[in-house]
Parts: sequence; C-alpha cells; structure tokens
Amino acid sequence: MTIALYPGSFDPVTNGHLDIITRAAAIFDQVVVGVYKTPEKNILFTPEERLNLLRQAVSHLKNVRVESYDGLTVDFCKKVGAEVMVRGLRMRSDFEREFELEIMNKKLAPNVESIFLMSRLEYQFLSSSLLKEAAKLGGDINNLVPQHVVQALKKKFKP
Ligand code: ADP
Repeated sequence: MTIALYPGSFDPVTNGHLDIITRAAAIFDQVVVGVYKTPEKNILFTPEERLNLLRQAVSHLKNVRVESYDGLTVDFCKKVGAEVMVRGLRMRSDFEREFELEIMNKKLAPNVESIFLMSRLEYQFLSSSLLKEAAKLGGDINNLVPQHVVQALKKKFKP
C-alpha cells in the first residue's frame, strides 16, 4: 500500500489544492494532507481552523485524511508511513522553490520520493495569499474556494 503526504500551510485551502488532493487520491492508496502548524508571516487562520476547513472540503474522499504537524516535513512523512510526497506545481511561482526543497528533502530522507502534479490551467495563478487579498477587498472568490471557505473568509474580514 502506498501512502502519500501532501504538505502545506493551506491558509486557507483553495480549489487549486483540492484539485491536487483529488488527483493524488486517485493515484495513491492513501493520502495524508499535512497542515504545517508553525506560524509564518501572513497566516490568517489558526492551525485548527485550517485543519477543519480542509477536513470539511475532503470529507467525500474516503482515502484522504487531514492531520497537522510541526517540525521537518520528512519526519512527518516517516511518522505517517508515507513513501511519497506530493506537491503542486504552478507555472511561474513554484518551480525554483520546489526544486530547492526537493534537493534538501532528498538529502534528509533519501527514501522519500517527491511527485509533482501540475496545476490545472484555471488554478495556475491561484494562491492562498492572493485569495486572502481579494477576499479582504470584497472580491468575488466563489469559483476559487469551496462555499464554507468563502464564509470563513467573510467572517475573518467582517468589519
Ligand atoms: P506552502 O505553504 O508550502 O507555500 P501551500 O499551502 O500554499 O504551500 O500549498 C501546498 C502545496 O500546494 C504546494 O505544493 C503548492 O505548490 C501547491 N499549490 C498551492 N496552490 C496551488 C494551485 N493553485 N494549484 C496547484 N497547486 C497549488
């Protein structure tokens, strides 16, 4: 059985993330979505809020579960028994950073293989940070995130 870990901040989960999760769930026996807990700059939702938004979004996918973690991602891979790490790749923004991360991860954990799924065209320019900006300024984000995330963002940015 192959378990894959899909790690990220998910602040909040977008349809771009969900597309990657759905496609990974069709390839691997089990997918663990790992919510990276450590607070970074510009984090809007608490780790628990991010976890709950994700759990609601993937509840229909029976071989997907969501957990939070801190520390090294490769250590979390070992903890959940994942041999594969899944990452999403957008055209411009992700390649160099992902390349660096993969080289570091290979040094730290040679047995964990990274797999990159290319973002679908409609989500190529969708990032959680841009989404938060759009939501803050009252933009229409209905096609970019599930409805419960639209509501959660509205609540956060309520004047
Ligand atoms: P990080 O906190 O590592 O930047 P995110 O939580 O934003 O990560 O995203 C987690 C993973 O999902 C990363 O591999 C990122 O490249 C990918 N990703 C983010 N947005 C999209 C998108 N719109 N389409 C496909 N993959 C995406």
